[in-house]
Amino acid sequence: MTATAGPAEQLWSRCAGCASLLYRKRLRRNLDVCPECGEHTRLGAPERLRQLVDPGSLRLLPDRPSEADPLDFVDVLPYPHRLSAARVSTGLAEAVLCGTATIGGQPAALAVMDFRFLGGSLGCAVGELITRTAEQALDDRLPLILVTASGGARMQEGALSLMQMATVSQAIAALREAGLLTVSVLTDPTYGGVAASFATNTDLVLAESGARMGFAGPRVIRQVTGRALPEGFQTADFLLRHGQVDMVVQRRSLRGRLAALLAAARAGRPARAPVPRQEPARHHERLAGAAPTVPPAEANGAAPADDGPTPAVRDAWDTVRTARHPGRPTTLDYLDSVFDGFVELHGDRLGGDCPAIVGGVARFAGRHVMVIGHQKGHTTADLVARNFGMASPAGHRKALRLMRLAARLGLPVVTLVDTPGADPGISAEEQGQAAAIAENILTLTVLPTPVLAVITGEGGSGGALALAVADRVLMLQHAVYSVISPEGCAAILWPDRSAAPQAARALRLTAPDLCRLGVVDEIVPEPATAAHDDPAETARRLRAALLANLLPLLDVPPAMLVRLRRQRFRRFGATRAGARAGAR
Ligand SMILES: [Zn+2]
Repeated sequence: MTATAGPAEQLWSRCAGCASLLYRKRLRRNLDVCPECGEHTRLGAPERLRQLVDPGSLRLLPDRPSEADPLDFVDVLPYPHRLSAARVSTGLAEAVLCGTATIGGQPAALAVMDFRFLGGSLGCAVGELITRTAEQALDDRLPLILVTASGGARMQEGALSLMQMATVSQAIAALREAGLLTVSVLTDPTYGGVAASFATNTDLVLAESGARMGFAGPRVIRQVTGRALPEGFQTADFLLRHGQVDMVVQRRSLRGRLAALLAAARAGRPARAPVPRQEPARHHERLAGAAPTVPPAEANGAAPADDGPTPAVRDAWDTVRTARHPGRPTTLDYLDSVFDGFVELHGDRLGGDCPAIVGGVARFAGRHVMVIGHQKGHTTADLVARNFGMASPAGHRKALRLMRLAARLGLPVVTLVDTPGADPGISAEEQGQAAAIAENILTLTVLPTPVLAVITGEGGSGGALALAVADRVLMLQHAVYSVISPEGCAAILWPDRSAAPQAARALRLTAPDLCRLGVVDEIVPEPATAAHDDPAETARRLRAALLANLLPLLDVPPAMLVRLRRQRFRRFGATRAGARAGAR
């Protein structure tokens, strides 16, 4: 629905669905749904809240925005300028409004996203605000309702925005454990990192009529597959048909449906005294920086991983090209060189086995571990057979099955991450790519066994994070880890894709950058000039680093591990980003 230009703007608007000229007051009375054709206009968060909650019941949570620009991100405009403009045009502090309220008399905590604010993008402040809302729900023993509208993670905050997918997911996991209902309401549009986390890993997923949801956007899918998209692709009805949402709800029925679901959840769980939540993360409790209890050389007979001569600083774009080098060792190479006795396990038990993810049990330094990793290849034929390391939903569900199995057997999990991103294809969307990634992220936040992740090549966005929510995150020296590919970022924020080298620099996707930001705990040095020149030496160094980082985790009781892991990802909130920006 677009407003017509000129003085009549306040009075009339034209429906985007049927082109009818509509009197604005009539439209508003009809909840911004076209009375002629039923087109649901996008709502801002304040109007959405007004429509959903009982009058006078809303208590907004504080939304003091962080002034963080953790990456000093500049495209054609500095990020702080874009933030200020969004604040002026929307009157909001951030892309989400949070509070507690009643709906049809039923109390709930709510976080409502606003697409008008930088495309509803998920940055550190948005993640922090939604996490605090979930924590408030836990404290007050309230159900949580998330109304999503987002293009995905906020590129200008790089990998820190990617981490928000884990931060919010673990808050949802805590509500799951406490038996509190979580509901997401998908509104148009919900994509990317939001779709692949809290929009789909809630107990119930409702889609507003006409809403579209998916992991990859239609433009990207068309570009990658070169195919026309099926009629109604990724729409609410499509999602319902493919088993991805519980129901499609007309806007006029949304309030009533939510009230009924809240009432059912409340009936099954009598009110109890609020449970005090855990203390916030304290730095001395972090595993990060903990010294290994056994020096790797003694434990393993391997030479210690010396850092060698200080490497020359490589440009971010050169690093991207190195990380993508076809000669770079793959997961199967490492399974051969770093691990012993790998027994591959296949299948998601739901109808597929994805070749882009390999996993199974292996021995490592005399212990048994579960290894799960993306598999690329060295030749074009290998790469095609492995879908270039881009996992399908079946791949993510296979990984999920193996993670859970590892926890039941008491085996540590080692993940090797090397993917341009999750498969952005049509069938991946039909099979629920977003929800598959979201469930892995949530499960990893609470998996009661040690998890050690290594970014070995490309850590591409949500597809990488689906294997990288870990107690310790290591990164090979010339690997990259990013919320979006430099090419994708350039296409959106710069005039064209040829700005990929600039985007690579702006995104802070190299190992030293991510170490500084706390996303990565340790860099595994590569031999000169890079891993592909000396795979055997790379394997030796990776083995030493794995051992040094795995051994201390083995002595930590599972409950403590989970608590520390949660703290590790909880600290990527706005406070931390603000502190970093201030510290500069
Ligand atoms: Zn219409």
